[in-house]
Amino acid sequence: MTLEMLKGAINDKKMLCPKCKQPVQKYDNFVEMVSSVWDGAGDSGTELEGSKVTLICGNDGCGWKERTEYWESYIVED
Ligand SMILES: [Zn+2]
Repeated sequence: MTLEMLKGAINDKKMLCPKCKQPVQKYDNFVEMVSSVWDGAGDSGTELEGSKVTLICGNDGCGWKERTEYWESYIVED
């Protein structure tokens, strides 16, 4: 998942706040993460990629905000 997908989901109002069920308005501090996991058994390391972002609801009366690497789970499909 990329920053473009995140922006698209927010623009298309497909990212919903779990608290008020309204579209999430903003995000902050998007970072890509790459980490190597070494299993210690001599096999090559496994690369895990992901991204982390702070989602901010931004709707009136809702203060929901969360820093998460599982932001895909807030995106709804049609
Ligand atoms: Zn909300």
